[in-house]
Amino acid sequence: MMQNKKPNKPFQKGFQKGRKFNKYQHKSQASSKPRDDEEIERLRSQLESIDPSKIKLFTDFPLSWKTQKGIREANYKVPTEIQRESIGHALQGRDILGAAQTGSGKTLAFLIPVIENLYMKKWTRLDGIGAIIISPTRELAYQIFETLKKVGAHHDFSAGLIIGGKNLKFEKKRMDQCNIIICTPGRLLQHMDENPLFDASTMQVLVLDEADRCLDMGFETTMNGIIENLPPERQTLLFSATQTKSVKDLARLSLDNAVNIAPSEQQAVTPDNLKQSYVVVNLEDKITMLWSFIKSHLKQKCIVFLSSCKQVKYIYEIFCKLRPGTSLLALYGTLHQDRRVAIYQEFCRKSNVVLFATDIASRGLDFPTVNWVIQMDCPEDVTQYIHRAGRTARHKARGESLLVLLPSEEEGMVAELKNAKIDVNQIHIDPKRLFSPKGKMEGFLAQNKELKETAQRAFVSYIKSVFLMKNKKIFNVSKLNTDEYAKSLGLVVVPRVRFLERFKKRQAAAQKTNKEDGSESSSESEDESEENTEAKPLRKDNDDDVNFNLPHSDDSENSDVEEELFKIKRRDHEIEESVSKKDDEEAKAELTAARKAKVLTKAALAKRVLKKRIQTNTKVEFNEDGTELLDTRKQLQSDLARDYINQDEGGIDIETAKKVLREEDKFDKKRFKEIVKAKHKVQKKKSKSKKNEDEDDDEVDDFGSDADDEPEVDLSWLPDPDKCYNVVNSDSDSDDNDDEDNKGEVSESESLVHRPPKRLYEKKKSGNDSATSSDSDGEDDDEDEPRNKKAKQIANKLSLNEAEMIAMQLLGK
Ligand code: ADP
Ligand code: MG
Repeated sequence: MMQNKKPNKPFQKGFQKGRKFNKYQHKSQASSKPRDDEEIERLRSQLESIDPSKIKLFTDFPLSWKTQKGIREANYKVPTEIQRESIGHALQGRDILGAAQTGSGKTLAFLIPVIENLYMKKWTRLDGIGAIIISPTRELAYQIFETLKKVGAHHDFSAGLIIGGKNLKFEKKRMDQCNIIICTPGRLLQHMDENPLFDASTMQVLVLDEADRCLDMGFETTMNGIIENLPPERQTLLFSATQTKSVKDLARLSLDNAVNIAPSEQQAVTPDNLKQSYVVVNLEDKITMLWSFIKSHLKQKCIVFLSSCKQVKYIYEIFCKLRPGTSLLALYGTLHQDRRVAIYQEFCRKSNVVLFATDIASRGLDFPTVNWVIQMDCPEDVTQYIHRAGRTARHKARGESLLVLLPSEEEGMVAELKNAKIDVNQIHIDPKRLFSPKGKMEGFLAQNKELKETAQRAFVSYIKSVFLMKNKKIFNVSKLNTDEYAKSLGLVVVPRVRFLERFKKRQAAAQKTNKEDGSESSSESEDESEENTEAKPLRKDNDDDVNFNLPHSDDSENSDVEEELFKIKRRDHEIEESVSKKDDEEAKAELTAARKAKVLTKAALAKRVLKKRIQTNTKVEFNEDGTELLDTRKQLQSDLARDYINQDEGGIDIETAKKVLREEDKFDKKRFKEIVKAKHKVQKKKSKSKKNEDEDDDEVDDFGSDADDEPEVDLSWLPDPDKCYNVVNSDSDSDDNDDEDNKGEVSESESLVHRPPKRLYEKKKSGNDSATSSDSDGEDDDEDEPRNKKAKQIANKLSLNEAEMIAMQLLGK
């Protein structure tokens, strides 16, 4: 535990100058120095006198004005019980072991002390990491980060969200600039191991949200690695709805003097406004039950928990195809991180929606206004039940939880819940209200091979999840009606599950020998033998008919519940421990061998082809006369290349091949140059002829192209239009006169299709183009023509004398 270990620093670090402040911050900054110092002194003097029983509002806590403002703006006024109880102790610098129901506001209970701790120490950006907050899932880390942004909005600390699935390099560069880090265990350890800029030696406060999960088997080695790297002098805050009581855990974190804040004896472990029930359904009827439930709750927001990614994927995909009439979403660990965040946000936003999820969504996530939580597959234990159910009925809201149990699971699970004082009532389903989508599902699977494979994987993964469960009193894989279950998923043929076959064989053999020995084994030893026989098939995942990928233990990104799900249960098996090491090594060797076998480079492929002496086919083209058409582009040009090809030495001489390529390249370049030259020539020619034509004739034909560009068309075979239509006029005469003229032909063809002779019309209108005009002799063609005529007429009417006089006058002038 650490209290003010850091000497007070003046509040004048250089980075403040360059920082951009918003309007409000900028104003306050001028007076912040003396104000902060004064405030810190005042707050420090009030710390010792905090009395949780007297706290009614957040304003009753001695908190900085920046934090108070953040709390006020986020609309928090009255602290919840866990906040009232823990914030005071935490402000005093004590370690906390906080437990409180789901949705009771634990996030603020640790965020406020974190911020205040750093503020009281005048932490600045240049001081490095001040606090580390660890969450078991990425979504929860993201959610804590969002809450921190709200309540810490007026402080100057920088916070970083360090979770997997993002660019590690990007994070690495910014790590040293973060004051508060919110992270998942795997990613944090990765930075500790790989990032030279990461320095946790300055850390003041460590928080574990969902602490029992962070400290359980799944994260054990990762957390041990992290704790080793943290300064022992620190404040530690542990929060969860199901707090760890393990002495070992507490010793690991040196939490002997922590303040233990637990709900009172009378208080239920689950929220009071959560209505909890369970229903007993045969495995093969589960899909029908779920489908009918969704169809009859279309206006509700529900979360459906399933035990594996593959089940979530399949149920989501097939239900989407069945179109229930409400939005469907799916959240599971193998999705890309960006998709996960998008789905999380979408589910928060929507109100009529069903989310299919694995247990990555079971811890801590605060989805607003969830009406129903349905646990389709029985939870591993009571703890998991509490967290799943706790996604609804959060902070005074109401909610319902429905647990779906198989007949074989009922007795054991209900007893466990009763033991934990969780009140669940059995409800019965009205069979009349059930609608089976089986027929339609079969149809979809018949059409879609991929979907069928997804269904097969879902089937195997469910059986495997039951098989791996620790509590054999509840989970009994031999009691599953696998054939009927496969059919209920829409599978016509039941996929083979080899590990189950082997397991059953072994079980039968064991029973046989037991009988032969005549010794009745006790129920306890039966349990043990079951576990013993189970331990082996677990290592033979690769043998499954349908590939079942367990996460690799070396995976650095082991931050999710999802990814750890199977590992925990494996390690929980005490009997496994004895065989685990050897098997692990074997499995590793197998894995590396498989990886090696899989890698097939292009060179290896080429070698294989060469070995087989495969002759690839070539395409030969002939012209109509039957002579071969040689494609010069594909012919080898250089002598070197031809020599090289003719050598029949086998294999590839890389050096000579390079030379050959270089030689051929020369020819290619030459050919390319010639082509470019030829193209330029053609272009030049074109532009030249266009220029000429522009000078001669600006006309453009009907189709927008120069008439001269058109190839000369022989239209002599066409019938004479004049004869066809009996048209006889002066124009036709003139057209006849211009037979040689291309344009005349066009106008002729135009008249055949009953188009107005536009070009001729235009020509007549422009009238100033004597060189190409076909009607230069026409009567109204020349503008000067009428003037000449008038002059001739006047001259004819004058006598010789009169004409002479006019001429003399004109000359005289
Ligand atoms: P927990 O971590 O205990 O499961 P959260 O911290 O996620 O609970 O809080 C649950 C909900 O209650 C959140 O939506 C949060 O905004 C709200 N909440 C927390 N504290 C308060 C408070 N003092 N007043 C009103 N709402 C609160
Ligand atoms: Mg929480």
